[in-house]
Amino acid sequence: MLKIEKAERLKQLPPYLFAELDRKKDEVRAKGVDVIDIGVGDPDQPTPDHIIDSLCKAAHEPRFHRYPSYSGMNDFRKAVAAWYQKRLGVTLDPLKEVVSLIGSKEGIAHIPLAFINPGDVVLVPSPAYPVYKTATIFADGIPYEMPLLKENDFLPDLDIIPAAILQKAKMIFINYPNNPTAAIATPEFFAKVVAFANQHNIMVCHDYAYSEMAYDGYQPPSFLATPGAMEVGIEFHSLSKTYNMTGWRIGWAAGNREIIGGLGQIKSNIDSGIFEAIQIAGIEAMRDDDAWLAKMRAIYTERRDVVVAGLAKLGLKTIAPKATFYVWVEVPKGYDSAGFVTHLLEKCGICTTPGNGFGGPGEGYFRMALTVDKARLQEALDRIAKIGF
Ligand SMILES: *Cc1c(COP(=O)(O)O)cnc(C)c1O
Repeated sequence: MLKIEKAERLKQLPPYLFAELDRKKDEVRAKGVDVIDIGVGDPDQPTPDHIIDSLCKAAHEPRFHRYPSYSGMNDFRKAVAAWYQKRLGVTLDPLKEVVSLIGSKEGIAHIPLAFINPGDVVLVPSPAYPVYKTATIFADGIPYEMPLLKENDFLPDLDIIPAAILQKAKMIFINYPNNPTAAIATPEFFAKVVAFANQHNIMVCHDYAYSEMAYDGYQPPSFLATPGAMEVGIEFHSLSKTYNMTGWRIGWAAGNREIIGGLGQIKSNIDSGIFEAIQIAGIEAMRDDDAWLAKMRAIYTERRDVVVAGLAKLGLKTIAPKATFYVWVEVPKGYDSAGFVTHLLEKCGICTTPGNGFGGPGEGYFRMALTVDKARLQEALDRIAKIGF
């Protein structure tokens, strides 16, 4: 009998806290309960037709059936640079400062392999998108968690990181607008990150997945628009959340050319790029999208308003989000995150995400995703009101 043993890097991964919740969700569904699932951050709306049409047309072209270029089609990278210029006023060299990704998750997962040696520290926020930490572990790096706390507006406190950690730190991940807390960053915070990076020689990786998903006319700032940012870091981005394209797997990283080059070198040894017909559709997505974005923002704004008003009525504390499609809510007295999320699932048939699933400092919170229509969200709130907690 073969003895199959997992590698240390897999054994080191934190326990998957959502597995137990998935099991419970299936159990509740099996009882015939109509579960309202606002657990996962996956848009419910379809990809716009004009983007789908451009894929269909491009898919018929034999020149796109061959291996794609590793770093992305020149036209795709030029479209990314043009998008940055037009929307954010950031100038990028499309061929040296942009690399295409099979979704931003892929780039985030691979970047530590390009720069982290065993024992190097990577600063990661907590609670956070889990990939920053697992990618660090896969590269034999040591994740150092920076708690995101309400009293700091869910920004990491860079001033309290111990000197011994800073000495070994080579990379920092930040993510604004933030998943899961829905917090936003100010240009002043980004300026502080640039100074911090220069002082301690730390590469900055900013995850900007929710750049276009903002409310009330607010435009979340780009890290790359910060003076000096191009010398110290890169920004990850994708079409997933903005254009309802999570299933398409297309994104990019942009910024400092040496960091982009390192990521590209790793990737060219792992994958062979993105199907070029999908890149053609990505170019189409980035063209003249103001009307589309306004429509999506209006849908999420209505949903946010329903949820924020409903939570206030229930006496559940939250901060109305200025961006992202998440609402980060404090669990009521007498519960911890897992306990309250279980209560909502088992008693009300509502699936949410426990804050501690994103890291220890997320304890005391749960996350609701605005990815069902407003009538469904209202029904969720009505169920909670009826059953209580
Ligand atoms: C959704 C998400 C991503 C991943 O998006 P891709 O589909 O891989 O581009 C990255 N970061 C955060 C914070 C996310 O919420």
